[in-house]
Amino acid sequence: MFKTEDLPNIKTDSHSMDEIEYPLMEDFYTIQGEGSHTGRPAYFIRTAGCDVNCWWCDVKDSWDEEKHPRVKTGEIVQRAKASGAEFAVITGGEPLLHDLEALTVRLKQAGMQTHIETSGSSPLSGQLDWITLSPKRFKKPLDEVFPYVDELKVVVLTNKDLIWAEENAKKCPSNTQLLLQPEWDTPKSIPLIVDYVKNNPQWGISLQTHKFIDVP
Ligand code: SF4
Repeated sequence: MFKTEDLPNIKTDSHSMDEIEYPLMEDFYTIQGEGSHTGRPAYFIRTAGCDVNCWWCDVKDSWDEEKHPRVKTGEIVQRAKASGAEFAVITGGEPLLHDLEALTVRLKQAGMQTHIETSGSSPLSGQLDWITLSPKRFKKPLDEVFPYVDELKVVVLTNKDLIWAEENAKKCPSNTQLLLQPEWDTPKSIPLIVDYVKNNPQWGISLQTHKFIDVP
């Protein structure tokens, strides 16, 4: 449904799609620091707007989309393509607050793969090659999102988050990559995660490696 094979069903022409605007906090070429694609160069597109309200959020500036400019799809895709990255990571904020059809179709037509990092709390949209679900207890993922999850990445602060991780894992396809990620400012979660993964080897650990190498 949201994967590459749907491209022939595009109803809108390229010029119209390029005119569609998204509230954009920032876009930049960097290294994917988290999850299964860690270490690969990627073009990050951070849309503005989030209604999840995680108290530990490290991008609170993204929450209010009115504080950020609306940028045309054509302009974003041109910058992404010029970077030379093989794939774009659409993140937020909560990117699924926006209909991602135009942005993702145009990225794919420019030859890039489309990845998303989402809480899954709003409906899926667009042509997505890789879906990272990072579920938040503050606003739970929609059931309709789970069948499409490639990677489940759960931020862990306490034991309660491990229970939450298992509840979400049960709803994902059997081949979903399962990852636990320590919250950056909660280092005491690291031994908790290490012990858990050693005892439950279907899970792996995701670290925010971009913070170690000091890239955005
Ligand atoms: S979903 Fe992401 S952007 Fe939104 S509040 Fe939570 S951590 Fe922040």
